Amino acid sequence: MDNIITKSQINDAVEETYNLFMGVKDGKNADYIPYLANIPSDLFGISIVLEDGTVISCGATDYKFGIESISKVPTALLVMRQSGSKELLEKIGADATGLPFNSICAIILENDHPSTPLVNAGAISACSMVKPVGKSDQKWAEIMQNINELTASDITLIDELYKSESETNYNNRAIAWLLKNFSRIYDDPDMALDLYTRQCSLAVTTKDLAVMGSTIAFAGFNPVSKKQIFDPEYAIKTTSLIATVGFYQNTGDWMYSCGIPAKTGVGGGVMGIVPGVMGIAAFSPPLDEAGNSVRAQLAIKHIANKLNINIYNQAKIKIEL
Ligand code: GLN
Repeated sequence: MDNIITKSQINDAVEETYNLFMGVKDGKNADYIPYLANIPSDLFGISIVLEDGTVISCGATDYKFGIESISKVPTALLVMRQSGSKELLEKIGADATGLPFNSICAIILENDHPSTPLVNAGAISACSMVKPVGKSDQKWAEIMQNINELTASDITLIDELYKSESETNYNNRAIAWLLKNFSRIYDDPDMALDLYTRQCSLAVTTKDLAVMGSTIAFAGFNPVSKKQIFDPEYAIKTTSLIATVGFYQNTGDWMYSCGIPAKTGVGGGVMGIVPGVMGIAAFSPPLDEAGNSVRAQLAIKHIANKLNINIYNQAKIKIEL
């Protein structure tokens, strides 16, 4: 039987979810990046974007926070847009590592591939693949144009976060050079690392993330700008990458209990994709031990169960627009 959902049901679900989890105090801000340790922990916001461009939001949805690892998604898409999905698979891979996002062991265990563009190693490798090779400023311009198109927004850098992260990213420096050792960096390793660090320091709101999620959910069509941004094939590939490793070593548990492919960042954001139905995002800084926002997970899971929008469910979902 079809699952027909109205906008007011979505509104109610979002509000109920916000009120239910507003008071949750579990988790801890990321502190290995000093800037993130000082973001107010009580911030909490949820946004949903539908096919007609309707935005449903509750809470701190205008607050600009560090995109962090969610930036791995637009850059994977950019590499596909520039070089095709086959090249991404061959040069980086599309597998789960089953290990933390910053794992060095994962690279050594699989010295043939960095596994996926959605962990640090693969994301640094993806930054090295962005064209034009050898030209940092032009590569950065491509990264920015791509993310602006996906979010229908004018995304800016949080200078303080970029500085904070650049000064303390010793583990990522090791990853960049280890990848170079395995010939999995396709440009200058320090340049690739710097682009990666910069893209992690971009400021986004939950609305920006929900718009980007919806552009992937609607096969490359951005419902807010009303523009076709990329080839529909890349939406399928990107969603599969996210479903495989969006929560790192906890991805299986997440898909089992929620059923919405979603990507997290240590800034506290989570971006989810329900193909053909919606983009959904939540934000709250305190994280669990795998680096995933506690309240954002509770929120998206609750909404998924409430509206019955698990992607593995057989029922055809229809939103009354
Ligand atoms: N910039 C962060 C890092 O490289 C991103 C990690 C994350 O969000 N999981 O450590």
